[in-house]
Amino acid sequence: MTPSPTQSRITIDGAQGEGGGQIIRSSLALSAVTGTPIRLENIRAGRKKPGLLRQHLTAVRAAAEVSGASVSGASVSGDQLRSSVLEFTPGTLQGGDFRFAVGTAGSTSLVAQTLLPALASAGESSTVTLTGGTHNPWAPPTDFLQRCYLPQLAKAGPRVDVSLTRHGFYPAGGGEIRLQVQPQTSWSGFELLDCEPTFTPKVTAIVSKLPRGIAERQCDTIRRKSNWENARYEMIEVDEPTGPGNVVMIEIERASVTELFIAHGKVGVKAERVARSLLKQVRAHLGRRVPVGEYLADQLMMPMGLAAAQGHTSAFRSGPLSMHSQTHLAVLKVFLPIEIDVQEDDDVIVRFRPQVA
Ligand code: ATP
Repeated sequence: MTPSPTQSRITIDGAQGEGGGQIIRSSLALSAVTGTPIRLENIRAGRKKPGLLRQHLTAVRAAAEVSGASVSGASVSGDQLRSSVLEFTPGTLQGGDFRFAVGTAGSTSLVAQTLLPALASAGESSTVTLTGGTHNPWAPPTDFLQRCYLPQLAKAGPRVDVSLTRHGFYPAGGGEIRLQVQPQTSWSGFELLDCEPTFTPKVTAIVSKLPRGIAERQCDTIRRKSNWENARYEMIEVDEPTGPGNVVMIEIERASVTELFIAHGKVGVKAERVARSLLKQVRAHLGRRVPVGEYLADQLMMPMGLAAAQGHTSAFRSGPLSMHSQTHLAVLKVFLPIEIDVQEDDDVIVRFRPQVA
């Protein structure tokens, strides 16, 4: 996967599959890692507000900076908000000290998701500071990166630490995370097929500029309705809040994988109801008896695909694949010489292998 300036440009139709932001993030990451120039068309055509939004635009600019890429386009295109077309021509991957601002509550985790494959493949280590949203309802919270994704990414090689230096809840945003990336010259394969029967639950409720009582009621509801005697409960009141916000999260920690579920408090919705909706998500996941939930499936595909492109097989077992995950798989196959086998029964097993010549 050494960048080659002579590679011909690939056109990616952003309307394919679910037509959302994942196609952009995965395409940028894969373009940067493989050195393949791309043209992205019909960007987020499947969404109500199509084109690049702040989080996607930050991802484009950040991916360009770490890969020395040039970005261009025609009218209502290229490197600007609401662009529907852009060309991205990567140069050489470079580690370093970076700072990117998403603005608003746009997800810092999703910008990190775009950057990590490139920074993990660069010759030097990196530090990245990202400002924006850390807890918004449509993206992985920072805790998900810390507890679920990065430990799995480490199995593929790259060591990444993330610290949350300031919470940024939707809609105010203004949060900050810091990443430290130790790159790896080669990617390793790994498997997540077994679901160990025992797990340790952990419940965390966070309030920002809101009464602590909300977090207490959420933890009480979960304590009453679950039989988790061994659970750890933590309540956090955010210091120096940038805006109001409340989330409650449940971690399910097993020997080989940790899953994390989150529910966001909303004006007019009782704290108890938010906690019950979270428990429902967790019970649905536990009932499937699979190691990997819907969101972690999305995150595993990139490192497993990159490992397969370097000759190493990987596999995970999850529930039915979302349209989002299926779209992600389709993008991986465009860039990488790999085979992806999806075996659907009650569960789904997704296997990544190098392509046979
Ligand atoms: P769009 O507006 O086009 O949908 P987007 O880029 O904001 O763009 P998606 O393409 O839908 O969003 O991607 C959202 C990503 O966030 C997916 O990778 C999904 O797995 C992840 N995600 C969403 N909610 C959670 C959650 N609660 N926990 C972990 N990951 C999540």
